[in-house]
Amino acid sequence: MTEKEKRTILDMRAAGKQYKEISAVLGIEVSALKVFVHRQNKPGVRKCAMCGKRLPDKARESQRFCSVKCKNAWWKRHPNQDGNDKRVGRACASCGKLFISYNPNSKYCSRGCYYASKRKA
Ligand SMILES: [Zn+2]
Ligand SMILES: [Zn+2]
Repeated sequence: MTEKEKRTILDMRAAGKQYKEISAVLGIEVSALKVFVHRQNKPGVRKCAMCGKRLPDKARESQRFCSVKCKNAWWKRHPNQDGNDKRVGRACASCGKLFISYNPNSKYCSRGCYYASKRKA
């Protein structure tokens, strides 16, 4: 099987062609085509999107990072990727003013309000 044939096979499969059709075009046995395509479909080695380290084989489909550390580092670098804006608008627990925060745990619009609430408590 030449590289050109391999590419043709994958292209035709991607276009939804049957093995029989590909076999007719290239003159390669259906069984050989199946073996080849099957090998191609094997999930490749997945890597951490941050550090490039190989993810464990048992890693979930959605997992993109080897560790929480890498995940956080990546999000710090790409705060607005994938339209996944993490900012949340909320009311300050001290003065009631609306503010925008990246940190889901922050309750106050400013340090001043944070310390004010500490003083009150
Ligand atoms: Zn990593
Ligand atoms: Zn406030």
